[in-house]
Amino acid sequence: RNSGRLGGLNAENGGAPDAKNLRVKLVLLGDSGVGKSCIVLRFVRGQFDPTSKVTVGASFLSQTIALQDSTTVKFEIWDTAGQERYAALAPLYYRGAAVAVVVYDITSPESFNKAQYWVKELQKHGSPDIVMALVGNKADLHENREVPVQDGIDYAEKNGMFFIETSAKTADNINQLFEEIAKRLPRPSSS
Ligand code: GDP
Repeated sequence: RNSGRLGGLNAENGGAPDAKNLRVKLVLLGDSGVGKSCIVLRFVRGQFDPTSKVTVGASFLSQTIALQDSTTVKFEIWDTAGQERYAALAPLYYRGAAVAVVVYDITSPESFNKAQYWVKELQKHGSPDIVMALVGNKADLHENREVPVQDGIDYAEKNGMFFIETSAKTADNINQLFEEIAKRLPRPSSS
């Protein structure tokens, strides 16, 4: 709705954030196939469309949300474009990221292990005040669950992360994920 106007304001003041209109870089991390692209498409376009993957990987997508206190947050969402294997690129990818969303698949213990690897990488190379979320995706496949909810909760708590289980397929908790991240962002003081 007002995302166009917000974009204009940011351009006029050189992109500097103000207390009411935040603009943040968000990076997605996690094994290939856990649903990162589907989460982004569900959030930005309201669709579940696994075939659009290539488009998402090519660049970043952005989406603005309004919070109850009339703050708006524009997420600039970076997907790894399948480059999770090239560890050398990672520090470039994290640079300037205010938010990291680390995703695993609740039916895949391997992907949960890999998520823990990414969290350690972020702790080494990411900004010290980065907001981190741990996301157990494909919650609709609970009949094939292999990672207990409690494991996600415990790991997130130990590492100061926000935790949520989502389904990009059914849209469950997708908007909540981004709203909860927005609430946790440090607010620049207005001058
Ligand atoms: P990425 O490699 O992490 O970006 O994963 P994708 O977004 O390309 O998704 C990989 C596969 O998982 C696709 O075939 C999707 O259809 C499927 N997928 C993604 N999210 C979900 C979900 O929440 N539930 C189910 N059942 N399948 C999902």
